Amino acid sequence: MLADLQTNPALLKLDLYCKGARMDDSCFIEEDGGRKILRTRAGLGSGLELILPGGLWTNVPVSESFAERSPYTVHRERGRYWLRYHGIDVVHVQLSPRPNWYDRAILGTGKAMTRIGTLQGTYLGIYQAKVCEYWTQKPMKTNCKFCSVGLNLGIDDADEKSVDEVMEVVRAARNESGITYVDFNTGHYEGDTYLDILEPYIRRIKSELGLLVGVQTPPHRDLKRYDGLRAMGVNRVSFCFEIFDRQLFEEICPGKHAEYGLDHYLEAIRYCATLGRKGPRHEPWVTNGEIIAGLEPPESSIRAIDWITSVGAIPTVCVFRPLIGTDLEHAEPPQTEDMIPVFRRLYEACMEKGLPIGCAPNVHVSLVMLPEECRSLSNRRFPWQTLKLKAMASVFRRGFERRLADRASAAA
Ligand code: SF4
Repeated sequence: MLADLQTNPALLKLDLYCKGARMDDSCFIEEDGGRKILRTRAGLGSGLELILPGGLWTNVPVSESFAERSPYTVHRERGRYWLRYHGIDVVHVQLSPRPNWYDRAILGTGKAMTRIGTLQGTYLGIYQAKVCEYWTQKPMKTNCKFCSVGLNLGIDDADEKSVDEVMEVVRAARNESGITYVDFNTGHYEGDTYLDILEPYIRRIKSELGLLVGVQTPPHRDLKRYDGLRAMGVNRVSFCFEIFDRQLFEEICPGKHAEYGLDHYLEAIRYCATLGRKGPRHEPWVTNGEIIAGLEPPESSIRAIDWITSVGAIPTVCVFRPLIGTDLEHAEPPQTEDMIPVFRRLYEACMEKGLPIGCAPNVHVSLVMLPEECRSLSNRRFPWQTLKLKAMASVFRRGFERRLADRASAAA
């Protein structure tokens, strides 16, 4: 096991999601330039941001009770950080660097920049607008049972974020952290207003900075709205249906079930996956279907992966984390052994279908295992597809950098 963890960073990343880690007293994360352990948005991350060998960025659970019995500990020795497994050094790890702008406030309003957005891995994540209304529904809240968004807002996130405030943070993250991608996330709002709310932010970012932009919202009832996003230059739409098993979906996501239903989530994914052929040709477009492995049997997660890839979308697979304060706080995280086949299938299904994985420049994600990161969990090799992806990534990166450079010289 120890040798596997040392040579297979994908396995290590997965095992850490499932087991968490304990922090040794020798650690001084913030003093050493690491990122503060935030109670984060979207209900999945709460942990220590690290970079594992192989350049895998991750977010390791350290606050939840299951992490207290983890075989992993994080140690600092002569200024370097190490992961130990049952007391034996496994690998040297790096702290994900905390950018200087994390310590600054917005000019004018004085709000801390981190209340507007934070880096998740190497991209900027913004939980836009007010709290998801499933948390405030009367007579009974209908929030997803794993979610912590209603616990976090107002603590780490500002609930009002003007376009100018967001632009100031995006510029800081672009100039100082080199981000290439901005991800907007909203919950459910009565009247399906989430896309109306996001569009002014998206237009400004696209026209002034040309960065890649993605949106993760509930599936709008008018699917034609996604044609509008595609035309606007949005690069990613993501729909989190979380659970493919219908009964578990209804139990764990009562708001989503009552408001949209699993079928509308699936229809939105199917519809959006066809939009790649439209729109500005220089703007890439991907559709993600997001699930949480560990909330349903692994076979059901695998069925979800096969369904998502069958319509030309790319699965985003999170590992269930029983966050403090949520309805599922006392549930157990999944076992690594049960997760390996799920993440192996994630890689294989994407490669079998020829989906464009790993093509966005400088996008490292800490909260999930990306499909391309799961390669070392599979014995199957896809030489032609791998070559094609490398070529696509290189063409796309060069085009993206050229457009950014043109924009910078036009602005100078
Ligand atoms: S839709 Fe569910 S997961 Fe998303 S913010 Fe609302 S309660 Fe949380």
